[in-house]
Formats: sequence, structure tokens, C-alpha cells
Amino acid sequence: MSDYYETLGVSKNATQDEIKKAYRKLAFEYHPDRNKSSDAEEKFKKISEAYAVLSDQEKRKNYDNFGSEQFSKMYNQQDIFRGANFEDLNDLLKNFFGSNFEDFGFRGFEGGGFQNDYQEQDNNLYASIEIPLESTINDSKQSITINHTKPCETCQGSGAEPGSRIVTCQTCRGTGRKQISRRMGFMNMVTVTTCPTCHGTGRTTEKPCSACRGTGMKKEKTNYEITIPKGIEYGEKLRVKGGGNYSNGRQGDLIITVSIRESEKFQRDGLDLYSKIKLNAVTAILGGSVEVELIDGKKAVLTIPAGIQNAEVLRLKGKGLQRGGRTGDLYIQAEITIPKGINQKQREILQDFEKESRKKFFGVL
Ligand SMILES: [Zn+2]
Ligand SMILES: [Zn+2]
Repeated sequence: MSDYYETLGVSKNATQDEIKKAYRKLAFEYHPDRNKSSDAEEKFKKISEAYAVLSDQEKRKNYDNFGSEQFSKMYNQQDIFRGANFEDLNDLLKNFFGSNFEDFGFRGFEGGGFQNDYQEQDNNLYASIEIPLESTINDSKQSITINHTKPCETCQGSGAEPGSRIVTCQTCRGTGRKQISRRMGFMNMVTVTTCPTCHGTGRTTEKPCSACRGTGMKKEKTNYEITIPKGIEYGEKLRVKGGGNYSNGRQGDLIITVSIRESEKFQRDGLDLYSKIKLNAVTAILGGSVEVELIDGKKAVLTIPAGIQNAEVLRLKGKGLQRGGRTGDLYIQAEITIPKGINQKQREILQDFEKESRKKFFGVL
């Protein structure tokens, strides 16, 4: 008999929350639909058993008090799983896989009595593009070519030879799903997948379309011109309607995640930009005006106040990025440099400067 705490990798005084987290993580890793190694099923069963005991206050107390050997005499396997709550895992899988959940459907344990709703297949396609930060100044265009499925022209996507009848699928009796039960000791794990015969539609044809062999779809390459709105943020998603795959009578969308390449000169925070400017010590002391580069490559004049300190930040209003009528600012940080290798005359001037400074502060030479 194994140590339940060890199985879940938690300490003896782990909280319910920690136990739940540990179980979710391991169950996810060893779910037999996901992990194809030969010992995954056994491992999954073990961690589920450990969770069933440690997540139940009474069972845990008995396990702690009597030890594993005695505990196994008090509870048989069926008792152990009775009343166990595995709904969390279900939610986890659903959240993670989204509408692809059917691939990893997980419908319960005998006696557990819970079910998840079957979800439709995801027809969307996913792509990502990267643009330089400079491209976010204005709306920009990107072209992207997608290999996807469209409705077959001969049968208009139905999969039926023109003129032939559409009938209820015999494999799934019209449900569109196929259910596979698997016994693991006292657990009965049910996996739900799309019916392979009707691809989830619940209907088949008397005579399949000869052009698409009854699938209702054809492969096609489509080129899309995407407009990326100015000011777009890292990780934002753009949706191209109809850019996904066609199946089960629906055309999915193409979802593009935009990432933004970092710039050497500018950093970004929302619509605001940040850059640096080198100022020599004399300009810093005296003040003046210098040219700075903007993100669009143009120049702007920046007024340097006399006595600016190193790392001080100046703002150029409205010189950031734009979006939806809002405009960010450009923040410029001063990097003050000290001149090196000065000549004799400069040295004398600075020595005078120093003398003058002492007079100013101490009133004496
Ligand atoms: Zn067809
Ligand atoms: Zn079917």
C-alpha cells in the first residue's frame, strides 16, 4: 500500500488547497488520454485514489490515525472512491483545452455521478505574426497564407452526392459522439470523442459525394491581407472571419496572435514610449536644446533645463503611440556623460569655474 502523501508529493500537513493543486497537476500529466506511456493509467489510478482519500476529511483522518495498512482494511476500493469529487479536474481539462475538450473528455468515475457537456469541435485556425514596434505607429498590412478547408463545391459542403438522401448516422445513432468506456479497477473512465463516421454531424449520406469522398470539404490555400491597427499591444489577437476550417457545416475563423519585436531605441508601456539621450556635462549644467529621434524617424527639439541631473526624465507630450483617439507621450531619460581628454585651456577654465564655485559657497578663496 502506497503513501498517499508521497503519491501526490505533498506534506502530511498539506492544506486542502495544496492537495487539490497537486492532484490537478498530476492528473493532468498522467491522464491516459494524454499520456501514452504504458504506466500512465496505473499512475493515474494511484493519484486519483490518493486524492479521493486526502480530499475527504473523514477518510484522511482515518488514514492519518490508523496508517495505510489499517486503512486498507477499513475501506475497500469502492468505499474509497465513493463520494469523491473530481469535478475540479473536469473543469481544469475544459479550461485548458477549450473547445478541443472532446479529445480529452473525462466523464467520471463509477458512482461519482458527474458529467461534462460535450463540446463542439473547434474549427478555428491559429497563427501568429511578429511586427517591429515601429510598425505600430500606423495601421499596417500583413499578408498571410492559410491552408484550410472550405466547403466542397460539388455537394456544397453536405458530403452527399447531389440527389442522394441524408440519413441518420448508424454508428452514433445521430448523436455525433462516440463514447469509449474504460475500466480501471473500480473506476470507470469515459472518454467522449467525435463520431468518426459522421464527423460529429450525426448524419451520413446514402451516397457520399464523389468529389470530396463524403467529407463535404476541400483543401484550399487562401491569402489574407490583414490590417493591424496602430497602437496594437503585444499578444493581442485578431480574428479573420471565415479564415478557419470548414467542417460539420461551419466555417471557423482564423485567429492571429500579434507579437511585437522589441526596439533597440524605444521601450513601450501601453501607448507611452521610453528612450534615452546622452547629454554632455556642460549642456546638463547650462541647459539648452537638443534634437531627439522620434519613433517615426522624425526629429523633435527637446529643451534641456539648466542643472538637469543624471537619469532625470523629460517628457515630450503626444510623441508616443496612438490608438482610438488616445495618444501616448515620449519619456526621455538623460544620460549625462563626462568629457574626457580635455585640453589645457579647458582645464584652466574649469579650474576658474571651481574657484568661482568655492567663492559662491564659502565666500572665501
Ligand atoms: Zn462533396
Ligand atoms: Zn455518427
